Amino acid sequence: MSAHDDELNPLQAAEARFDLAAEALDLDAGIAKILRTPSREVTVYIPVELDDGRIEVFTGYRVQHSIARGPAKGGIRYAPDVTLDEVRALASWMTWKCAVVNIPYGGGKGGVICDPAILSQRELERITRRYTAEMMDVIGPELDVPAPDMGTNQQTMAWIMDTYSMHKRHTVTAVVTGKPLDLGGSRGRTEATGRGCLFVTLEALKKFGIEREQARVVVQGFGNVGGQAARLMAQAGMKVVSVIEWDGAVYNAGGLDIEKLMAHRVETGSIVDFPGGENIDKEEALYLECDVLVPAAKENVITSGNAHRIRARILTEGANGPTTAPADPVLKEKGVFVIPDILANAGGVTVSYFEWVQDRQGYFWNEQLVNDRLEEMMVASFRDVVSYAGKHGVDNRTAAYMLAIDRVAFTIKLRGLYA
Ligand code: GLU
Repeated sequence: MSAHDDELNPLQAAEARFDLAAEALDLDAGIAKILRTPSREVTVYIPVELDDGRIEVFTGYRVQHSIARGPAKGGIRYAPDVTLDEVRALASWMTWKCAVVNIPYGGGKGGVICDPAILSQRELERITRRYTAEMMDVIGPELDVPAPDMGTNQQTMAWIMDTYSMHKRHTVTAVVTGKPLDLGGSRGRTEATGRGCLFVTLEALKKFGIEREQARVVVQGFGNVGGQAARLMAQAGMKVVSVIEWDGAVYNAGGLDIEKLMAHRVETGSIVDFPGGENIDKEEALYLECDVLVPAAKENVITSGNAHRIRARILTEGANGPTTAPADPVLKEKGVFVIPDILANAGGVTVSYFEWVQDRQGYFWNEQLVNDRLEEMMVASFRDVVSYAGKHGVDNRTAAYMLAIDRVAFTIKLRGLYA
């Protein structure tokens, strides 16, 4: 199979980026072998009685890519098209993401093949609790700490926390992050990924001397990442000219009122036909001329087939893996300033880290403190990556991978191999 045939397999994207950075780093071949392979993969089959009495067996995964720098960390995804390769790629991205922002975690990811859109809350609860029970021995505050991802949310984390705690016979809040505030969640966690996107984008605007009031932003995805990024960017004075969702896109050259767009979506179930903007083609919206494009929906949005049509100055990757590996050189050629996913969307896991710290201390911070510390870490990481890119003459994505791989490799060398 040629690289192109495989372009949409996220594992291929992850491996291609890893290999490029490992080569640029002149990484020891043995260490490269370790880091190319996950440390543990668990598959479980989850029998669940549906509301109509039928029994269905769902497949669930948890992949721990690395535990060298600390517990595995990363979300759990519920989607009908989850694959083991996708979870492997996402797990390795978590390792690099945590290393880029320098938090003491490895990387992991979970997934359950199911369609949350057609399952009831009770069915989802049963799936989640049985998944957790099956994973009892591999998750834990010191082992592997799940969090929300696509298709999962605070409620899912509450069920995991409760199930884990029931088995342990005492409350263990730090087993998951992204919990509701009243169950040991952190202030600012819900907005954290979007807020992190804002902080790195503001740094990039400064670098190019673009006034934030002049910055035209296009956001793809209006879920937890895209919705919050759009809201916070608009609040910061930027003009969010278009929002793209799976069922359409809206446009307003003067900037959309994001709060009103959110209310419209709650009311009608969709962003289309928003009175404060016009409906435009969702495909064309991605190619609008803009200062900032934030793909915050899903993987494989910018590919070798359409990268040449992107007309953004800055690409802030809110989603994991929105750009395929063969699209990278096309964006580079066009001079698009890419803030790669493992940096741009690291705000979520950074505040997950704050949540875990707060849970373990039993001492909770106010929102300002959370946001200030998040800003400090995102800005420092942005500067680290950009200066590393300048120093080594590589693009930002390769720089972020190099920085991250170097940190993890250093830890592995120091620890040595246990035989
Ligand atoms: N699922 C999020 C991510 O991809 C958050 C992970 C976490 O907080 O552990 O970064």
